[in-house]
Parts: sequence; C-alpha cells; structure tokens
Amino acid sequence: MAKKAYVDEDECIGCESCVEICPEAFELTDEMKAHVISEDCAEECIQEAIDTCPTECIHWAD
Ligand code: SF4
Repeated sequence: MAKKAYVDEDECIGCESCVEICPEAFELTDEMKAHVISEDCAEECIQEAIDTCPTECIHWAD
C-alpha cells in the first residue's frame, strides 16, 4: 500500500518548493498553504519534497 503524506499547514510558509518538486502530489491553497492532492506520485518524489521543505512540515502518515 502506498504511503500517505500530509502537510502540517500551521508550519507551511508557502515557499512552493514541494509544488515545484512534485506538482502531481502538492498544491498551494489561496492562503499559500501546501496540501496533498494525490498519493499517486512516486514515493521518491514526495520524499525529496519532505527532505527539502524548509520548515520540515511535510510528514508521512503512520
Ligand atoms: S516546501 Fe514546505 S513550506 Fe514550502 S510550500 Fe511545501 S510544505 Fe510549505
């Protein structure tokens, strides 16, 4: 089963890094907060977004 990711929106600063790295998986809201729109993206792609998020607010769900 694919791992699920989520964004802690309170910590997100809307830098768009995750959206640039993994546009199939992340989208910014009008409030400039990222959220996960699809889990179909490659796990490696989401992991790269996690590793490069400046506020470390993208996490894998348990
Ligand atoms: S990389 Fe992190 S801080 Fe930047 S938009 Fe994505 S979730 Fe928000």
